Amino acid sequence: MGNILSDSMTKTYNVPNFELHERLDSCTVEILPHSFKILFDCVLKMESTFEVILNTQLKQKDPKEAISIAISARALFDMEEEHELFLTEGEEEFVSHQITNENIPLKEGIVAPFVKLSCKLHRRPVASHSAIQMVNNKLLARDPEEKQLFEIILLSTHSAEGGVRIINSVNHYDLEISKFCFLGGKDPAKYLHSEDVKLFLSACETSVCNALKKDIPAALVIQQKSQIKESHLKVAFDGDSVLFSDETDTVFHEKGLDEVIKYEKDMEHVPIGEGPMKKFAMILGEMKKKFSPENDPICTYLVTARSGNKLGIRAIKTLRSWGLKIDEAFFMAGSPKGPLLAHIQPHIFFDDNARNIKGAREYGIPAAFVPCGCE
Ligand SMILES: [Mg+2]
Repeated sequence: MGNILSDSMTKTYNVPNFELHERLDSCTVEILPHSFKILFDCVLKMESTFEVILNTQLKQKDPKEAISIAISARALFDMEEEHELFLTEGEEEFVSHQITNENIPLKEGIVAPFVKLSCKLHRRPVASHSAIQMVNNKLLARDPEEKQLFEIILLSTHSAEGGVRIINSVNHYDLEISKFCFLGGKDPAKYLHSEDVKLFLSACETSVCNALKKDIPAALVIQQKSQIKESHLKVAFDGDSVLFSDETDTVFHEKGLDEVIKYEKDMEHVPIGEGPMKKFAMILGEMKKKFSPENDPICTYLVTARSGNKLGIRAIKTLRSWGLKIDEAFFMAGSPKGPLLAHIQPHIFFDDNARNIKGAREYGIPAAFVPCGCE
């Protein structure tokens, strides 16, 4: 690519195995075999730019077929101290800190077990906590031509200037990241939409809300210690306002329990509306169909506050009408979900209720909050 600016306006990072891949404009970028060069003046001037860096260590997935999951850097890594520095001291200090510490790996965050790489088995005989890559491996073992594979995109709302530490950290932990996108302060929603992202996990509620408004399944994660070591990819969903729309929740809040029971009885044959996580659950459901039950690497759970006898029928009929098979459904009748989730040990649990999120976190379960009614 042409470089019309002088060397004094460039800076080179040495980042093995990564390659600056594309930008959404004609900004000049020079690609080097084992490093990338970014022209800062160009980055700063081009308001619409963001940078995407490919991990050349991994075989890139077919962009038309891949099931893209985007995870923010603050969701993947515990960057709370760094984020606090950004909030109190500003972008410049944050970037300077990241550059100074670029060889010190960030601490692993709440969703790391979700994406941990398992292919380096020669170093670790059993990778028991490598959910996404394990599913990909099983899909490829079943059909070497399989294109519908998970791919993980790491998003940072900062510029690539301070991004080397993030990339080095991914290398350090062998995380299965296909692409890095540095947004330079822009809202991720536009990129998520253009990439047809199927799930977005972030530590920023505004970003999550903006994604949900674009109909992209998204959830907020808050850092906590988590040691999920399951051999299957386990995903647990709440029902109302998560898999299902907030239709029944609204009736409950406006009219109370007796009325909601009556409402659900009257509506028994009408499927509940679609909630923000329905599309992602359907993807998992379709993926499960590719495997025989004994070989299925994915386990899905419905963990709903509904009671089974009074409010369970419509929920089950709705799932049936969608053609969505959930492995196990638990109707908690308002009981705390934490103890059950501790037994299930999901890699991630989605709920719109802050009390349920807190309850899951108390048991070390990676819980993702799905905000309802983002305006
Ligand atoms: Mg709910």
